[in-house]
Amino acid sequence: MRGDRGGAGRKVTVIGAGIVGVCSANYLLKQGFEVEVIDPALPGSEDQCSYGNAGGICPGSCIPNSMPGVWKNVPKWLMDPEGPLYVRLAYLPHALPWLLRFLASSRKSRVEEISAAMRALHHYTFECYEPLMKEAGCEELLQKRGQLFVYESADGPGKNNYGLELRRAHGVRVDILNADEIRQLEPALASIFKSAVYLPEQGQCPNPGRLVRKLAENAARQGAEFIQARVKDFELDGQELKAVVLEGGERRTVDQAVLAAGAWSADLARKLGNRIPFETERGYHVMVKGADTGLRIQTISADRKFVASPMEEGLRIAGNVEFSGLQPPPNMFRADALLKQARPMFRKFREGEVKRWMGHRPGTPDSIPVIDRARRARNVIYAFGHGHQGLIAGSVTGKLVAELAAGLPTTVDLSPFRADRF
Ligand SMILES: Cc1cc2nc3c(=O)[nH]c(=O)nc-3n(C[C@H](O)[C@H](O)[C@H](O)COP(=O)(O)OP(=O)(O)OC[C@H]3O[C@@H](n4cnc5c(N)ncnc54)[C@H](O)[C@@H]3O)c2cc1C
Repeated sequence: MRGDRGGAGRKVTVIGAGIVGVCSANYLLKQGFEVEVIDPALPGSEDQCSYGNAGGICPGSCIPNSMPGVWKNVPKWLMDPEGPLYVRLAYLPHALPWLLRFLASSRKSRVEEISAAMRALHHYTFECYEPLMKEAGCEELLQKRGQLFVYESADGPGKNNYGLELRRAHGVRVDILNADEIRQLEPALASIFKSAVYLPEQGQCPNPGRLVRKLAENAARQGAEFIQARVKDFELDGQELKAVVLEGGERRTVDQAVLAAGAWSADLARKLGNRIPFETERGYHVMVKGADTGLRIQTISADRKFVASPMEEGLRIAGNVEFSGLQPPPNMFRADALLKQARPMFRKFREGEVKRWMGHRPGTPDSIPVIDRARRARNVIYAFGHGHQGLIAGSVTGKLVAELAAGLPTTVDLSPFRADRF
């Protein structure tokens, strides 16, 4: 497949080696491009958001974060110190414009557009990961066991559940379970759960950091060059990016570039002519090594808004959205709160070694990424802003990036992901 689609002899510089960057590198190689990847962090390392996510690889993910009526929950969440949302007071003036756009995205007509765009993108996640995982020798990192949303009340999902309506409208299979059916499907869960929504077609990755590392190794084996450095600036000439300037002063010439720098992308995009409303939605996890709960299926507490994921190393509890910018150190109180809330979920829970982590979700206010060309540099492709769904969308985004770079028609209509939509 390499070399047969127009990339031969041309170079693409990928900025960022998280899941989006390494998937892009792999698909660009398939198009015959020479590839270099620049990142100060090692692929799959703890500095990347892609390391510590909950592992959900869900083709049926089509529910934006900002849904009709979301504003009603915000005061309740903000008042609860262990709740799923936190805004640092001193940071509020900075985050406010983004938050207002977030609320504006909850209009039903806009939600329907966003939901359709999410489904169109995520629909291809398995088929875009599978060939890469096969080549990289890590097919065990995609498990198709479904995803379970559990409720502590008997009518948890409720009668007129708009989220379920959206999923069904997009052809996503949805099963409603009662307490007995939950027990049969996932015996590890305690009897506090009285109802659930099971999405049997969803998948999970039991080690997202290892996935990034394996895909990077696969790209390197095929000739991609990984450069451990930070891109600081750009040199433009007319409507073209001519070179990237690295911290330390080195200048590297560019034919085409991909901006896939996760939560750090917006400042770089501004230099390329696009002001994109962007925030880091800081999230936390605790990894309990050897927790031995017996959990098989990724399970979301729908009431308390966190995810419990069985991982290669143990049990990972992930969640929280914290607005306080890229700089402040993590507040591990939030990770501890996740663990405290998760313990009663399980019939048995053996305490093991606990590791806490915080990562930066690259957030746009409308829950969907930017996949487009830069306004002032048409040879730069944007691939960032995947928010809560970057693992799901990483594989597909990589394929789309390679199609754009090669000048091919794209597998997914990219108009919902335009940089100038805000
Ligand atoms: C708690 C939590 C749970 C989550 N659960 C899920 C889930 O279940 N499913 C899902 O799909 N998503 C989930 N996510 C979201 C997902 O992890 C992110 O959307 C995804 O990892 C973003 O990938 P990325 O490659 O864009 O960013 P990153 O992985 O952060 O990679 C960006 C890279 O760019 C590099 N970089 C930054 N600046 C520069 C520069 N100037 N020059 C060069 N390189 C630079 C960084 O060093 C970094 O390595 C979760 C996130 C969190 C925090």
